[in-house]
Amino acid sequence: MTVGRVLVVGAGLGGLTLAHGLVRAGVDVRVYEADDGPGERSQGYRIGLAPPAMEVLRASLPPRLHRLVEVTSGSLTGPGLLFDEQLTVLSRDLEGPPAEARAVDRQVLRRILLGDLGDRVAYAKRLAGLTQDAEGTVTARFADGTRATGQVLVGADGGNSVVRRNLAPEVGLVDSDLCGAMGRTPVTDRFLRLVPGRGTMVKGPGITLMLGRMQFGREPSEAAAEIAPGLDMPYRDSYVRWVLLVPPEHPAATDPGRARDDARELVLDLIDGWHPDLRDLVRSADMSAVGRSKVYDRPMPSWPVGRVTLLGDAAHLTLASGGNGANTAMQDAARLCASLAEVDRGERELISVLGAYQDDLLERGNAAVEFGKQALKRFVPDTAASQ
Ligand SMILES: Cc1cc2nc3c(=O)[nH]c(=O)nc-3n(C[C@H](O)[C@H](O)[C@H](O)COP(=O)(O)OP(=O)(O)OC[C@H]3O[C@@H](n4cnc5c(N)ncnc54)[C@H](O)[C@@H]3O)c2cc1C
Repeated sequence: MTVGRVLVVGAGLGGLTLAHGLVRAGVDVRVYEADDGPGERSQGYRIGLAPPAMEVLRASLPPRLHRLVEVTSGSLTGPGLLFDEQLTVLSRDLEGPPAEARAVDRQVLRRILLGDLGDRVAYAKRLAGLTQDAEGTVTARFADGTRATGQVLVGADGGNSVVRRNLAPEVGLVDSDLCGAMGRTPVTDRFLRLVPGRGTMVKGPGITLMLGRMQFGREPSEAAAEIAPGLDMPYRDSYVRWVLLVPPEHPAATDPGRARDDARELVLDLIDGWHPDLRDLVRSADMSAVGRSKVYDRPMPSWPVGRVTLLGDAAHLTLASGGNGANTAMQDAARLCASLAEVDRGERELISVLGAYQDDLLERGNAAVEFGKQALKRFVPDTAASQ
């Protein structure tokens, strides 16, 4: 007896990794994404993927797509620097991702993950609700009035997950008090000197600026044209990503509309008098935004085991400070894929594997959220989220 059709809600990093793994295992899968297409909805930012997550990608993706991840990814070796705002070095030993981790751009990775899935991915399908039917199926209802039915539904629909709200309505999101402005500046030798290694932190009075380099091993569109012809991959420059943690009481933190329009000016105001290299880095940014981070107001509780489950941020929304959300989502995808493949081969029973998966997911996921909160203390000791 096969597992039947798996419906994955959300074509983000976790949902797409799961879909590739299931295709490889011969399981029938469909992905439903709220966005209208693969376009650039939000800015790409750099993610550090540790060896276990890179291994999940190797095991899940068709070889050419995995090769594209490898050749476009960047190095994270070298010292982690701590500067003051005049670029005096305070430490060369800042914690960061392990040296073997790779830097990937989230949007480039997502474009690669969308490769080869063809019409298994449906866009403009915003999940509105779902029902577990008596005959052993799950029906997803979308905002456009259409429906889809399968034997398992996986909520991979991110931090504001509709699927999670269906399974655990009592768990809400809270404002972490953490407000950050983020930008991306094309690399120059001058800016690269600010981030010679795995990451740089600049501690000014009451403000922290974090820098990370995304130096593509190969420019993604050129590498895609050679390795995976036909894959839709826009041109991208290497960049230095910067995130300024904005004090929660600053007007920008309470007026998100205004903040989004003039985030760069806001950041330049906040770093007035800082070293010219830092001010020019921000001034040359090609995009910029201010946003507030949210975390769950309590650990994710267990839910009655059925044909609906979760993965990634939908189950464990972590603060970016932990640098572990995507890494954890990849682990979820690998474990759920292995479990569903066993069911598909007739080796195990569906509900019992989904129960075991849920136990493992909650243990790892809640630990990942806690890790992100603890890591926040390194950046801003006094926010609500880090208490
Ligand atoms: C600045 C920043 C830096 C980060 N750095 C790191 C890092 O270094 N390392 C790391 O491991 N993690 C990092 N993260 C976290 C990481 O980006 C996330 O944890 C990861 O993207 C989660 O993947 P996901 O598949 O669960 O969700 P997402 O990638 O968010 O995907 C969710 C998808 O679901 C879709 N969707 C939402 N609602 C619906 C709906 N109702 N119906 C259908 N589709 C829907 C969305 O459009 C989206 O495509 C960082 C995050 C930020 C913001």
